[in-house]
Amino acid sequence: MALSRDAFVEFGLDAVLTGWNPQAERLFGWTTEEALGRPISDLVVPPRFTGRFWDALQRLQASSGPPGSSRPRELRLLHRDGHELHVASLAYVSGTGSERGVGVLLHDLAEERAAEVALAHAYLHDPLTGLPNRTLFTYRLAYALARGRAMPGMVAVLVLDLDRFKAINDALGHEVGDEVLVAVAGRLVESDGVAEVIARLGGDEFLVLFDGSDDEEKAVSFASRALHALASPIVAAGSEVFITASIGIACTTRAVHEPTVLLSNADAAMYQAKRRGGGTMAVFGEAMRVKVLDRMTTEHSLHRALERCELRLFYQPVVDISAERPIAVEALLRWDHPEQGLVGPNRFIPVAEESGLIIPIGAWVLQEACQQLKHWQDRPGPASGAVEVNLSARQIDHPEIVSTVESILSASGLSPAYLTLEITESALMSDAASALQVLRALKDLGVTLAIDDFGTGYSSLSYLQRFPLDILKVDKTFVDGLGVSLEGSEIVSAVIKLAHALGLQVIAEGVETERQLAELQRLSCDFAQGYLFSRPVPAADLLGVFPAVAAPGPDRSVGRPGST
Ligand code: C2E
Ligand code: MG
Ligand code: MG
Repeated sequence: MALSRDAFVEFGLDAVLTGWNPQAERLFGWTTEEALGRPISDLVVPPRFTGRFWDALQRLQASSGPPGSSRPRELRLLHRDGHELHVASLAYVSGTGSERGVGVLLHDLAEERAAEVALAHAYLHDPLTGLPNRTLFTYRLAYALARGRAMPGMVAVLVLDLDRFKAINDALGHEVGDEVLVAVAGRLVESDGVAEVIARLGGDEFLVLFDGSDDEEKAVSFASRALHALASPIVAAGSEVFITASIGIACTTRAVHEPTVLLSNADAAMYQAKRRGGGTMAVFGEAMRVKVLDRMTTEHSLHRALERCELRLFYQPVVDISAERPIAVEALLRWDHPEQGLVGPNRFIPVAEESGLIIPIGAWVLQEACQQLKHWQDRPGPASGAVEVNLSARQIDHPEIVSTVESILSASGLSPAYLTLEITESALMSDAASALQVLRALKDLGVTLAIDDFGTGYSSLSYLQRFPLDILKVDKTFVDGLGVSLEGSEIVSAVIKLAHALGLQVIAEGVETERQLAELQRLSCDFAQGYLFSRPVPAADLLGVFPAVAAPGPDRSVGRPGST
C-alpha cells in the first residue's frame, strides 16, 4: 500500500510540523522528537521552491468548501544533511476550525530517477563494451553536423571494422569473441585523445566522431594509433589472438553534410581498406566520390531498365570440338542504355548484385532465355541445343531460387534437359553447405549444372567433387596460355584430365585462335566457346552466324552437353 511505503507529514496553520510517520523520519533524516515543532521551511529547499511551496499551501488552506486534495506535484525538499530530496507530493486540508491543518503525502522519487538514468544509459550504450551505441552516436553526429553545417572539414567520421572477426568467433567461440571486442574497445579508448565519441555499432564495427577543425588530420592520426594499438596480440581465454582492422574515414565538405552520406562515404573507404587486404586505412576522396556517385546513378537507372525493357540477351555458341558444330548457346546479358548504348554485364552486374536487383533481373534473364530457346525449338524442323544461363551468388542464396527456376521452366514449356545453369566457383565457395543443398534441388529439377570461370577461385577439383556438377568451364586466362608455353598447356591438360576423371565435361572459354583450338583438340577438351567461332550476338543474328543452333540439326539427343 502506498501509505505504508510513503512518508506523511502534517502541520498546522502556523506551518509548524505537528506529526509524521517513520517513513518521513527516514526520508528527512530527523528523529520524530527533533522534527515535531519545527517550521516547515526547514524541510524545503530555499529559496526557489520555498515561495512556490508556500503559495500552494496558502491556496489550499484558503480554499473553502469540503476538505479536498491538491493536484499531485513534484517538489524539491531538504534532507537533514543538506542534500536535496526529489519527491512527488499530494497535499490535502485536514480538520476544521482551529484544528485545521495540512497533511502531505510524500513519495520519494530517488529510485525512479536512478532507474530512469540507468534506462537512458542502457538505451544509449552497448552492454558489452560500455561504449556509446549507434543511437547515441547518431545523436552526437547530427548535433556536430548541425553546428558545423557550412564549414567543410569540420566533422569527420571513422568506421573501423575488424578483419576476419567471424573466423575468430567460429574457431574460438563467442565468449572469446566477446573478450576480443572488449579488449579492442579498450585499446581504441586508450589510443584516443581527440575523438568526440567512440561508439560500437554492434558486431565488430566501431564508429568514431571528430568534431572541430582539421578533422581529417585528427582522424588519420587516430587511425594510425588504433592500427598500432591493435598490432599486439590480445589475450583472450588464455590464448593469444591476432587481430587487424580496416578503417575508413570521411569528412564533411560543402556538398556532404548529411549524416547518412557521411557514414556511407566512410563505409566505402573502409571497404577499400578491406580490398587492400585489411590492417590499413583509407580516406574517402575525390576518386572514390566519383565511383560512389557512378554506382548510385547506375543503380538508380538500373531500377528502371527492367520496367523500360532496356535489357537484352546476346547469345554465344558453344561448339563441340570433335564434331565442330554448336551444341548450345550461352545467354549473356546486355543493357541497351538510352544514353550510353550497349553496356556489358561487368559494368552493371556488380551493382545489381549489391542492390539485390539481380533477383528480378536474373529471373528476367532465365525467362527470356528459356522462351527464346523454346521458340527456336518450336519452329519447323528438329530441335536445337541447350541454353546456358549464368546465375550469381545472390541468386543461389535466394530462398526461392529453386521454385523460380521450376516455374519459369514450366511457363515457357522448355524441358529442363535443355537448360544449363552456370555458377561461378566463388559463388559455390562462399557458403558451400547451403550451395550444396540448392544445387541438389536444382539438379532434381532435371537441369544441367556447370561451374563457370574455373581456375579463378581457389577451389580444388577434389573439393568440387561433392557438388552435383556436369560441366566445367575453364576460364579464359588458362586458355590464353595454351600453346604459349609448355606450362600453359600442361595446366589445361591437368584440369581436363581431372575433370574427366570426375565425370565432368569440359568447355574451354574465350578461344580466339586456331592454335588454341588445335591444342584443345589434342588435349581431348569436349567443347569450346570464343570469338574464334562467334562473338555473342542478338538472337536474330545467330542464324547468320551459326544456322545449326538456331535452325538445328537432326538429332535432339546430341543437343545438350552432358547428355551422353
Ligand atoms: P562468363 O559467364 O564467363 O561469360 C563469358 C564472357 O567472356 C562473356 O563476357 C563473353 O562475351 C566473353 N567472351 C567469350 N568469348 C570470348 C573471347 O574469345 N575473347 C574474349 N576476350 N572474351 C570472350 P560478357 O558477356 O561481357 O560477360 C561477362 C560476365 O558477366 C560473364 O562471364 C558472366 O559472369 C556475367 N554475366 C553475363 N550475363 C549474365 C547474366 O545474365 N547473369 C549473371 N548473373 N551474370 C552474367
Ligand atoms: Mg558464363
Ligand atoms: Mg566464364
